[in-house]
This record gives sequence, structure tokens and C-alpha cells, in this order.
Amino acid sequence: MAEPLARWLTLYDECERTYNARDHPAVDKAFAALYAHDHTLTARDRMAARIARWRRDSPDEPLPDERDWWGHCLCRTCAAARLAQVGSLAPWQRQQKTLTTQRKKEHIHVWNG
Ligand SMILES: [Zn+2]
Repeated sequence: MAEPLARWLTLYDECERTYNARDHPAVDKAFAALYAHDHTLTARDRMAARIARWRRDSPDEPLPDERDWWGHCLCRTCAAARLAQVGSLAPWQRQQKTLTTQRKKEHIHVWNG
């Protein structure tokens, strides 16, 4: 396994370990380290790291169909940048946006008779 992927798995395990131990300050630190490392990877490596984790931890389960987002960087900067792009909204966010737009239109309709 390539070094960045092995490191990703180590950092992931540290998140899980501290989380299970309810060691909160350590959990924050572990996630920060995982996200920082995630940011240095390419989308392809991120995908590969998550697939490797899945195969290791759930060898009997097929990979989930919904895994396009596995290539996304989880760091705050990238997550915020994704949210800012209308095209990459999560399904529930798109739904909410459509609803809001519809309500606005209905409103206009009511006011304009
Ligand atoms: Zn990032």
C-alpha cells in the first residue's frame, strides 16, 4: 500500500480509537490530523484510502453505491468551498433550495393575484 494511504488508515484508526475511548480533546486532535492529511491527497487517493478501509473493516460487505463523495476532502476549507458551489449541493440541500424557490414563487403569485 502506498505510504499516504497507509498513513490515512493510521490516522483514521486513531480517530476511531480516541472516539471509542471518549477522549474528547484527543478526538478533536485526531480528526484535525486526519483532515489535514486528507487535504494533501488527490481525490483518487482519498477514494482509494476509503475503499481500502472498507475492504479491511467490512470484507464481507459490498462497497456502497453512494460513494462519489469519498473523493471529497473533509477539511473545513474544502467543505466550505463545496457548500459555496451551488452545483455540488447535497441532495437534501437541493431539495430545500427548490422548496424555498417554490415558496417564493407562490408568494409572488399570491401578491400579484
Ligand atoms: Zn481540504
